[in-house]
Amino acid sequence: MKPKTLVKSECANYNRSDGSCWPTGDECLIRTGHRCGYFETCVLPLADQPSPKDDPKLQKQRAEARTAYHDKHGIVSATKIDKRPECPDCGSILPAGRKYGRCDSCRKAHDREITRQRVRDHRNNAVGV
Ligand SMILES: [Zn+2]
Repeated sequence: MKPKTLVKSECANYNRSDGSCWPTGDECLIRTGHRCGYFETCVLPLADQPSPKDDPKLQKQRAEARTAYHDKHGIVSATKIDKRPECPDCGSILPAGRKYGRCDSCRKAHDREITRQRVRDHRNNAVGV
């Protein structure tokens, strides 16, 4: 599916009689090959919706339109941004903003382990003194 097709079927601002945009009265930005804020925030997210039962391919087609739109305008898609670093211990995605280290639960476990180790070393050293 092309972005234009997605607009035709889903955009609430699209005037089907002449291909214009209701709020501006100008020709639809997507049809003229430009970026459209409304399309990006309200129409593209539809690609994340599961397909309806009577049209099982719909989600894939919408995703295609989104990819085409992103590629055309050099937009880094949300799915790429979401590819955040993972916790080396359990493989879960790290909390937003954290670029390295462990997830919260593993970090706690890890800290406990470090502390235990330190205490043990300390005791072992103390024995010989
Ligand atoms: Zn973890």
